[in-house]
Amino acid sequence: KAFDELHLSRALTRACETLGYKKPTPIQAAVIPIAMTGRDVCGRAVTGSGKTAAFMLPQLERLLHRGPRATAATYVLCLVPTRELAVQVHSMTESLAQYTNIRVCLVVGGLSANVQAAELRTRPEIVVGTPGRVIDHVRNTQSFGLEDLATLILDEADRLLEMGFLEEIKEIVRQCPKKRQTLLFSATLTAGVEALASLSMKNPARLSA
Ligand code: AMP
Repeated sequence: KAFDELHLSRALTRACETLGYKKPTPIQAAVIPIAMTGRDVCGRAVTGSGKTAAFMLPQLERLLHRGPRATAATYVLCLVPTRELAVQVHSMTESLAQYTNIRVCLVVGGLSANVQAAELRTRPEIVVGTPGRVIDHVRNTQSFGLEDLATLILDEADRLLEMGFLEEIKEIVRQCPKKRQTLLFSATLTAGVEALASLSMKNPARLSA
C-alpha cells in the first residue's frame, strides 16, 4: 500500500516524502483508515513500528478539514509516559505538520511552566505532554481546557501505568468531552491496560502490527 492510497492531503504526503517515508508501515496501513473515520482504536505496537505517524497523520488530516475559524481550542491531546518520549513525539508531529499551519505544543516537567502556559493560551491545536504537567495546566492555566477536545491519545499505555499516572489519566479523561475519539497504543496489553482501555474507549477497533 502506498501513502497515496490513504487519502491524505498533499501537505501530509509531502511531509512523508520529505521525511523519506516510501510507504506506510503495517501499523500505519492498519490504523490510518480506521482512525480517520473517528473510531476509537486500541493498538498494540512498539516503538520503531511507526506508531507516532499512525496516530498523528489522521489527526492532522482532520485538523486540515476543520476550517480556519472553527473553535480555537486544543483539539488533540497526546499523553506519553516520559519527557524524552514527549520531546520525540512533539518533534515528529511538527515534522509531519511542516507544510500546514497546525501548531503543536510540548508540555513537560523541567521546562518553565510559565512559558508553557503562555504558549497554551495561544491555543495550539495539538498538545503533547506528560500527564502530571498536563494536569497542572488544566488546573492552573486559564483559557487552557479540554472541553472542546476531539481526540485523546494515550501513547505507551503500559508505561503510563508503570510510571504511576493512572489517577492523572482518570482526571484528564473526566475533563474531556464524552463524545470524542480515543486512541490507545501499548507494547503489551496487560490487565491494567485493558482496564484503562475500557474506562477511556467505546468499542475500539483492535489493531496490531
Ligand atoms: P515510531 O514507532 O513512531 O517511534 O517511529 C520510529 C521511526 O520510524 C521514526 O524515526 C520515524 O520517523 C520512522 N518512520 C515512521 N513511519 C515511517 C515510514 N512509513 N517509513 C519509514 N520510516 C518511518
